[in-house]
Amino acid sequence: FLPLAIILSLLCMLLAVNWLKHRLSWRDELRKGIRNGEFLVHYQPVWQVEERRCAGVEALLRWQRHDGRQVRPDMFIAAAEAEGMIIPLTRHLLNIIADEAQTWSVAPGFHLGVNVAAEHIQHPDFLADIRQFAARLREKQMIITLELTERSLIHEGPEVANKLATLRREGIRVAIDDFGTGHCSLSYLQNFQLDYLKIDRGFINAIESLEGETPVLDAIISLSHKLALEVLGEGVETPLQFEYLKNHGVNYIQGYLYARPLNSAALMAWLTKKGS
Ligand code: C2E
Ligand code: CA
Ligand code: CA
Ligand code: CA
Repeated sequence: FLPLAIILSLLCMLLAVNWLKHRLSWRDELRKGIRNGEFLVHYQPVWQVEERRCAGVEALLRWQRHDGRQVRPDMFIAAAEAEGMIIPLTRHLLNIIADEAQTWSVAPGFHLGVNVAAEHIQHPDFLADIRQFAARLREKQMIITLELTERSLIHEGPEVANKLATLRREGIRVAIDDFGTGHCSLSYLQNFQLDYLKIDRGFINAIESLEGETPVLDAIISLSHKLALEVLGEGVETPLQFEYLKNHGVNYIQGYLYARPLNSAALMAWLTKKGS
């Protein structure tokens, strides 16, 4: 048995070393990517149903590596969260957005949505980070919305709620993102002051596949109305989905049907062409 035990423990060590190397490499790669300017921001337009115009955009991070490879956002965001890199990455993102948005010509009240991680909110510098970002854009009079996933809020207590309430008093808005995909407890809806609820694409898809039988989607929409939250449907790809959401009182639509995420220059060209 002895040789087998030795072989097994060697194998374990090898796996551990490999795992460590992998871990270190994600963190190093993310750091290097930030230093080398490999991160870009795309902006996806959002349609305001009642006013029949573009309400604003959501900023979405892209990693275009210098070796030509694109890394999927859900992959590198998860890695950044796991490796303690989400805060530096988000700060980097806010800097890029502030730089780019300086050059935009948009009407006052243009919405700008930014995704933030719960870990960042807990950080002592969170309020300062967001205030500094907002200050850089003050001249543009945009409405800045922090998008938080349901998953990230569910375990958070009064500290996070207080910080968000403070920012809301300063004009920042808060959206609950990917609604319906997190946990089954809805109690946090009462503990946090929110402005918007973004319905996850999965429920929007159901409009087609379930042929008019979408009780969960309908319940989410009426829940947001009862909570006096404005509601957005994300991942809208077909006219049928669009009409359904419109007829059920959804306030905003986001998805490929209206527009894909665009880089800063393409966004300005797109807005000009749309004449808004
Ligand atoms: P999300 O916040 O739910 O962002 C919406 C995602 O849906 C984006 O994917 C967008 O490109 C995609 N999308 C929009 N319209 C359609 C559509 O009509 N059909 C389909 N199939 N997809 C559509 P993306 O850019 O790949 O981002 C994936 C996720 O990564 C985001 O989901 C968000 O959770 C995360 N993420 C992206 N950028 C950031 C960031 O800057 N910070 C943080 N913390 N997370 C980010
Ligand atoms: Ca989002
Ligand atoms: Ca979302
Ligand atoms: Ca989503």
